[in-house]
Amino acid sequence: MEPRDLAGLFITHEHTDHVKAMCLVTPFAQKFNVPVYASRGFWRWYSAYSSRLDKDLVKVIASGEEVDFSGVRVKAFAKPHDALEPLGFVVEISGERAGFAMDLGHVTAEVKRNLRGLEHLIIESNHDVEMEKNSGRPRHLIERVLGKLGHLSNEQAAEALCELVTAGTRQVILAHLSTECNTPEKARSLAVERLAEAGWEVPVRVAPYGEVAVYS
Ligand SMILES: [Zn+2]
Ligand SMILES: [Zn+2]
Repeated sequence: MEPRDLAGLFITHEHTDHVKAMCLVTPFAQKFNVPVYASRGFWRWYSAYSSRLDKDLVKVIASGEEVDFSGVRVKAFAKPHDALEPLGFVVEISGERAGFAMDLGHVTAEVKRNLRGLEHLIIESNHDVEMEKNSGRPRHLIERVLGKLGHLSNEQAAEALCELVTAGTRQVILAHLSTECNTPEKARSLAVERLAEAGWEVPVRVAPYGEVAVYS
């Protein structure tokens, strides 16, 4: 796929690991003329950079709203994270849906309602709680990660998956793993174990952090 072929960019929230390409002197979206969909909260934060992006590329999307491209539908939903109106997304193409939920401190009823039974689940499995506690990071950072508006632990992700997976689920991808406080093996084995205890056998893979992942 070429950047120019993109119909839209969807931004989950304003933390730097998610928006670097929006803060370049010429943002990626500006260079390739791609509309950007994000919450009002994000655009408020982005006002310091907004002169870098043409007004007609700025698109506001709120939780519960959908955008339709030809054959592709994207729906936004709210998630709990220490950002300004952070969003998760469900992308539907030809009747198959993929749900994206990364950077959330806990799994709310709204998140469950939006993700349950999707064919493809891409969910955060950020840290192993013991590794996080013993990481030697500053206390406020550890408390942030473990808090209700931080990130999902392996245990929280595995528990959530037991409620989200249904007979229609074709695959689970664990994402946004901490490089310091997690390992792909820990995240994956716990999810597989918990799902098996709940009677589900579904392929579980781990998205490599900070690398381009290509899935068939
Ligand atoms: Zn993040
Ligand atoms: Zn974040």
